[in-house]
Amino acid sequence: MPLSDDEKLRYARQLGIPSWGEEAQARLGKATVFVAGAGGLGAPVLLYLAAAGVGHLRICDHDRVEMTNLNRQLLHNVERLGQPKVVSAARTVAALNPDIRVTPLDQSLTPENSEELIGDADLLIDCLDNLPARHALNRVAVRKGLPLVHGGIAGYQGQLAFLHPPHTACLACILPAGIDAEPVMVLGATAGVIGSMQALEGLKYLIGMGSSLLECMLFWDGRHQRFDHIRLRRSRHCRVCGGS
Ligand SMILES: [Zn+2]
Repeated sequence: MPLSDDEKLRYARQLGIPSWGEEAQARLGKATVFVAGAGGLGAPVLLYLAAAGVGHLRICDHDRVEMTNLNRQLLHNVERLGQPKVVSAARTVAALNPDIRVTPLDQSLTPENSEELIGDADLLIDCLDNLPARHALNRVAVRKGLPLVHGGIAGYQGQLAFLHPPHTACLACILPAGIDAEPVMVLGATAGVIGSMQALEGLKYLIGMGSSLLECMLFWDGRHQRFDHIRLRRSRHCRVCGGS
């Protein structure tokens, strides 16, 4: 399907980017992305994916909007306090780009429900704040061979990886099991940096550019504006992908 006149206008400033164009834009319009978490990382991820024209966003989060969220979770505001985050997120995203489809999923991600919640997504984005849900997401990524864009933040620092099992390590190869120490202290700008890069990696994959982060983890230290990469290796003893 060729782009409509409205779409050509909305996306005019990206259609002319080398390696983008109408074919890439149409491909984006057919894509479904599962975004796990509508908080600090989910905010820039959802805003940039919606603005760029990803056709269907499945947003999963079971939290309610609280005052302590508002230093970083720019999808929400004081008028939405107490609302489900997925409802607030869907409203913000729909106001930005009413042409895309949004499915709010007001549930916690667990090993039992993760496959059903993820549905027919082409790409998974990890904007979560807890290890059990991250591992539930990872198990589906490994089982279905889906790419997973991982992000994590604390304070002035963050990390980012593009995992595509079985071609790369999976999240269980590199993250421990267990339970996180809560709550993590973090600045909104840190979430903005890492979440924006997650969105960019996702968009590059969806239009067929691939990812420049295959087989490595990027670390960003905002105190010194320094980026580092470490090589990721698949663990032969991984309890999730080791036998595949
Ligand atoms: Zn693994």
